[in-house]
Amino acid sequence: LGRLRRGLEKTRQGFVKGLLENLGDDPLTPEVLDDLETLLLRADAGVEATDQVLDALRRRMNEEVVDPAEGLRFLKQQLCNLLEAPIQDTGTDLLAPERGRLNIWLFVGVNGVGKTTTLGKLANLAVRSGYTALIAAADTFRAAAVEQVKVWGARSGVPVIANSTANADPAAVVFDAIGAARSKSTDLVLVDTAGRLQTKHNLMEELQKVRRIIDRLAPEARVESLLILDASQGQNGLRQAMAFAQAAALTGVVITKLDGTSRGGVALAVASEARLPIRFIGAGEGIRDLRPFNSFEFVEALLA
Ligand code: GDP
Repeated sequence: LGRLRRGLEKTRQGFVKGLLENLGDDPLTPEVLDDLETLLLRADAGVEATDQVLDALRRRMNEEVVDPAEGLRFLKQQLCNLLEAPIQDTGTDLLAPERGRLNIWLFVGVNGVGKTTTLGKLANLAVRSGYTALIAAADTFRAAAVEQVKVWGARSGVPVIANSTANADPAAVVFDAIGAARSKSTDLVLVDTAGRLQTKHNLMEELQKVRRIIDRLAPEARVESLLILDASQGQNGLRQAMAFAQAAALTGVVITKLDGTSRGGVALAVASEARLPIRFIGAGEGIRDLRPFNSFEFVEALLA
């Protein structure tokens, strides 16, 4: 928790310190709520999440005088509820590969958000948790992406299935990876995908094609489609979530770079507006700087 708290330090500085300083010892007033509104918006929590939290607080204050300690407790609970709602919808609390079954996790997102790093960290986490894994280097558009993925694979002893031909068909790489996984009864296949934004239409088509090939070749697999979002992009990340949601049939989100930004509130926007469960968070470049997302822990780290 200490590590997570340090990772969220910048968001905490902007958000919590301001909030706690404003609260003082007096009962909550409409002015405090106005400040809270500003702080939430500034942390990129988005209009919907901010309205929802403030409405709940206002209703509560209409019923009784709310002291700061109770106000803070109530605020934490509201934030937790927001983050939890899409997680509860999926019925899966913590995302982990299902034992005795082929699991395929697709990593999607625009270039630079930390997609490859996250895939590498998750390959490592899977191995540390006793799963067998392999990586499909299906971002065939950038030669450097294949090399980068191989470096991450080597760090954890995870084999990488790649096609050295320039601009190889990503679907062919996925085909090979599923074959390899079947023959070795691998638990988890991590699929890297292209993230070039210049040709958004083609990108979405390519993702849909990769998705179709997985569904066709491995109907028995449990497929997760994870969008990687860079927290420092704030509300722009929310727009990316909306754009990718359909094309890639997203089942979850990983928020990266929480350590470098004061916009950690974007987690709230993703949960409330895109209604997507946050599955992991990244707060650093190291192989272990990734953790399963826990709403309660996140809110505590943010507001402690
Ligand atoms: P991709 O283009 O989406 O595959 O992005 P990369 O995985 O290559 O990451 C882009 C840059 O972001 C690299 O320099 C990573 O080290 C860095 N990065 C990724 N995740 C995090 C994180 O959680 N925190 C920080 N500070 N940097 C990160």
